[in-house]
Order: sequence, then C-alpha cells, then structure tokens
Amino acid sequence: MSTNKRQRICQCCGMPLEDGILGRNVDGTLSEDYCQWCYVDGKYTYTDMDKMIDICVVHIVNESFTEDQARAYLKQLLPTLDYWKNKKVGDHKYGKIG
Ligand SMILES: [Zn+2]
Repeated sequence: MSTNKRQRICQCCGMPLEDGILGRNVDGTLSEDYCQWCYVDGKYTYTDMDKMIDICVVHIVNESFTEDQARAYLKQLLPTLDYWKNKKVGDHKYGKIG
C-alpha cells in the first residue's frame, strides 16, 4: 500500500479521475478505474475506439490544442489503457456489448 496519492485516470478515456466523477458498478459501488461517462451501472459506454475519440476530441480541443493534435494524442493514449488493452486481447468477449 502506498501512501502517495497517485493520479488515477479513467482506463477507458484517460481523463483524470476525481471522487465526484467515478463510474458505478452494477451494485452501486464506485469504480476505481472508470469515469461516470465511460462506465454506467456496470456497463461500458464505449465499445468502439474511433467513436469514443470522436466524442472525446470535442471536449479536449481548445485554442492551443487542435482537433488533429487531440486525435493523435488519444490514438496514442488509449491503446495503453486497460480497457482497450483487454479489449484487443479478448475482443470476442467484449464485442457483443450493446
Ligand atoms: Zn472515462
């Protein structure tokens, strides 16, 4: 157990996780790994990385971060997160959600 407060990020979209935006498991407990937009009542919102990028890009674009830069950033980041790593390996398991 570490006493350091490590910065957690959503393992689906990569946004910094704070207590107020944690997703919920199906039993109502809070997820330690996903935000409330990616993980709702035990269900994952996004099953397609490209679709998620389309949605996330809108939120992270600003004057100094263009859409192209945002897409490139997400395309690098997302494959390193647990959700997409697992999905790649076990696609047959997760492919039928939704
Ligand atoms: Zn998320």
